Amino acid sequence: MKTVIIGAGAMGSLFGGLLSHSGQEVWLVDVWKEHIDAICSKGLAIEKKGTTRNISINATTDVRSIGKADLILYFVKTYHSEKAVSDSLILKKDDTLFLTLQNGLGNEEVICKQIDRKNVILGVTGQGATLLGPGSIRHAGWGKTYVGELNGKVTGRINQVVQMFCKAGIETEVSTRINDLVWEKLLVNVGINALAALLGIKNGQLLDHPETLRLMETLVSEAVEVAKKKGVRIEANPIDRVKAVIEATRENRCSMGQDLDRKRKTEIDTINGAVVREAERLGISVPYNRMITDLIKVIEKTF
Ligand code: NAD
Repeated sequence: MKTVIIGAGAMGSLFGGLLSHSGQEVWLVDVWKEHIDAICSKGLAIEKKGTTRNISINATTDVRSIGKADLILYFVKTYHSEKAVSDSLILKKDDTLFLTLQNGLGNEEVICKQIDRKNVILGVTGQGATLLGPGSIRHAGWGKTYVGELNGKVTGRINQVVQMFCKAGIETEVSTRINDLVWEKLLVNVGINALAALLGIKNGQLLDHPETLRLMETLVSEAVEVAKKKGVRIEANPIDRVKAVIEATRENRCSMGQDLDRKRKTEIDTINGAVVREAERLGISVPYNRMITDLIKVIEKTF
């Protein structure tokens, strides 16, 4: 499948690099010229556990130079999605698939504003990556990836995407309940990101104080109430799941924390902010999520 990745930062470069290395035709698209120039001239450097490999891959800032695509994968930050989708319309043919593996809630809806729903598929990924500099990333996490049709059916095209990812070493499964999995990942981000970001702490420190534990549990419980009212099926205990993720990422400064540290806009609108929006629609009160969203928004305004 000819694959175009819109947003070639940490995650876009990781998926693009692995797919290209496995023999797929892949194009990376990014608005960051220095990064694209570095990839075109020296290849993409992917560091994993201290070893770096260099991968040759097509990369461009001009989406018009690519032709049509079989699969378009979005890996921009969620506040850039609308523009990324409109930029990518030129790549579309009748059967082009549009996939998002971004964090947060409502990403497929942003795509569906410009693309027919029948062409859109959804996923979540446990892979992780960090940008080291132009043309260079670190592969930092290797959890499973799930993709699924919006209607939950197992189709030939979704199996094709899974096979392509697996062949590239990206462990991937089809999910018949992808929306539930998006919520399960959202709950983890709801409990960790904004709280650790605001407090200026590493993930693990959320477990070290009764106050942060209480705040984390309340943020997640509010979101679980919204999820349940929406009919989302949450398997296992979400609070235990968040605690397990915190333990496993004890030494990490979460991405929202890194964004605040660098005085950059965050993805709050698609994480705690999305919980607030959904809660409003359902007439549920989520005061902790509202407060933490407002606090992050005010900090963003000072940048
Ligand atoms: P990033 O900031 O490293 O990369 C985003 C890239 O998009 C940047 O290089 C930026 O220049 C580019 N961009 C912005 N607008 C564009 C446009 N219109 N066209 C083309 N490129 C454009 O972000 P990331 O860490 O790779 O995260 C991407 C998404 O994946 C986010 O939603 C994030 O939550 C999610 N995610 C990240 C990780 C991780 O470990 N980094 C893990 C899972 C999910």
